[in-house]
Amino acid sequence: MYQTKYHKPASVDEAVAALSSAEDGKVLGGGQTLLPTMKQHLAAPTDLVDLRGIAGMDAISAADGVLTIGAGARHADVAASATVREAIPALACLAGGIGDPAVRSMGTIGGSVANNDPAADYPAAVLGLGATVVTNSREIAADDFFEGMFSTALGEDEIITAIKFPIPSSAGYTKFPNPASRYAMVGVFVAQTGGGARVAVTGAGQDGVFRAEMMENALSSSFEAGALDGATVDSRGMLSDIHGTAEYRAHLVSVMAKRAVDSAV
Ligand SMILES: Cc1cc2nc3c(=O)[nH]c(=O)nc-3n(C[C@H](O)[C@H](O)[C@H](O)COP(=O)(O)OP(=O)(O)OC[C@H]3O[C@@H](n4cnc5c(N)ncnc54)[C@H](O)[C@@H]3O)c2cc1C
Repeated sequence: MYQTKYHKPASVDEAVAALSSAEDGKVLGGGQTLLPTMKQHLAAPTDLVDLRGIAGMDAISAADGVLTIGAGARHADVAASATVREAIPALACLAGGIGDPAVRSMGTIGGSVANNDPAADYPAAVLGLGATVVTNSREIAADDFFEGMFSTALGEDEIITAIKFPIPSSAGYTKFPNPASRYAMVGVFVAQTGGGARVAVTGAGQDGVFRAEMMENALSSSFEAGALDGATVDSRGMLSDIHGTAEYRAHLVSVMAKRAVDSAV
């Protein structure tokens, strides 16, 4: 047994203060990853700082070509949001395909992005859209945020407050879900942006989410599925486990990428 002190701050400043004064504090988003980890004693924080009492933390808005989603927005909120559906339909669709209804009703975008599970869906959208992760102290470009499996640029006691997504001309996301968990065996997010095409892959890479440059170059010339003929990813960097070999995953990336382009709106 271990003791954990529960905090329910009313503001981000209070949350940061509670974290800073804790011996080993953890932020609680939706608890869908953290609580099972604690139950298994893989994590034993001295303090839990619950963000769910902070007003506005789940706000969703779009203005000046940017969709801003508060870190506390749950997957179900994002899936159902008229603002998200209009600005970036692929993002609403992605959120609606995460886990099951229970997970979508509790899990948050901030928790998912902070956790950076190698098979999670949101990291593909954040990287694929070239989003910006906003924290209590700074803004971090997606290209600098994801540092490897379960690893990010977040500092100790740093809290994600929102994600800013530039609205693309079109975007699509397709995943091949693990039949049991619905996590991505392979998921590919494609976006047509002012700066060219972006392609981000989750579920497949040994270092977590990554950009597929050969595919980005092909799609920047012509944003259609046929442009991806011959554009591949190297199986040597792919995960290999009981669910699928590295070669299988590399092949799936090509298949999912084409489907994502076909689905792009
Ligand atoms: C059965 C099951 C199926 C799932 N299937 C999928 C799936 O198909 N696709 C998918 O992408 N995910 C899936 N998930 C994961 C789910 O999306 C979780 O919601 C997500 O990984 C964590 O979000 P959370 O809000 O629950 O975070 P928590 O569990 O509360 O926290 C996770 C980590 O992030 C930190 N954290 C939380 N919020 C913040 C913040 N604002 N700033 C900084 N750090 C923060 C916590 O301290 C902790 O370290 C599944 C989970 C389960 C249990």
